[in-house]
Amino acid sequence: MPPSPILIAGPCAAESREQVLQTARAIAAMPRPAWLGQVIFRAGVWKPRTSPDTFQGIGEEALLWLQQVQQQTGMPVAVEVATSEQVQKAITAGIDVLWIGARTSANPIQVQVIADSITKAIASHHTKNENTPPLAIAIKNPMHDDTDLWQGNIERLLRTGLPVWAVHRGCNHRSCWGMAFTLRQRMPSVPLLLDPSHMSGDRKQVPSLCHTAATLGYDGWMIEVHPTPEQAWSDARQQISPSSLANCLCQPQTADDLIWLRYQMDEIDDDLWQTIAHRMQISRQIGQYKQQRGMEVVQPARFQHILQRRLVWAKQQGLPADTVRQIMTALHEESIRQQQ
Ligand code: PEP
Ligand code: MN
Repeated sequence: MPPSPILIAGPCAAESREQVLQTARAIAAMPRPAWLGQVIFRAGVWKPRTSPDTFQGIGEEALLWLQQVQQQTGMPVAVEVATSEQVQKAITAGIDVLWIGARTSANPIQVQVIADSITKAIASHHTKNENTPPLAIAIKNPMHDDTDLWQGNIERLLRTGLPVWAVHRGCNHRSCWGMAFTLRQRMPSVPLLLDPSHMSGDRKQVPSLCHTAATLGYDGWMIEVHPTPEQAWSDARQQISPSSLANCLCQPQTADDLIWLRYQMDEIDDDLWQTIAHRMQISRQIGQYKQQRGMEVVQPARFQHILQRRLVWAKQQGLPADTVRQIMTALHEESIRQQQ
């Protein structure tokens, strides 16, 4: 395990030799706080993109540019792998850290295929310098909130014998702090890194998320850095410039459970209020429907039906009936106001 906290930084994707080397030199030249551990350069070579019409990555050729980064800056380099062939090529090229992206992480069969190829590549003589194995494998959380799947993937990868790092990137721009908290509790010895770039999808939020990671005691960060972020060929909105990188770093603290629980609570409140706002929006649509057909806004039988159903459910959940009745009544009254 390299000294922590670990910083993995670099562009979403390798676009050109110049872009890769320019970014790597800027990251290597960044003044490093004394507490910072290893700095690793990242660049996607094979990009898992939603649309086939967007940039899919340069491919194998970019591995040569990453070797130049190793030679010119001394930084270890990381790429994303999603197939056995990519594992083979990356290990043969002497890539130091292999990372598995969120889309692959949703598929345990593919993660096993990757784990098996890594084991095979380490055992054979395909690695640089007569078998130098990669430093580590990093694995993002799956695209959906599923701690069990993330944990299972980590277990599959640990069987390669290499160190495994968990990279928390959230789900569809939701942080899902609970997923990382549970993983941390179950696997305290697996280093946990935060990827604020994919978590937020918004470069303005990257520094504060990095600071949150430090407050929560993460073991490092994976951050997308591009020399001209607005012109990036992928993830242009979330990449930061090399000069902003230093502002993102602050020394991780030892976090106790209360801090983690409060972050989870705040996220639940965000979800709750978004759901309430959505409910009100549907109420307004119902209001329009009723108005067009000359129906009464207040339908007491309907409210009694949903209230009774909720009270039965609340009893099963061990929630107090009075509280549930008060909240349902408040929601109903506001819905009526929205419909009028
Ligand atoms: C990436 O790191 O560039 C990437 C594709 O991330 P994710 O798998 O988290 O979407
Ligand atoms: Mn990206």
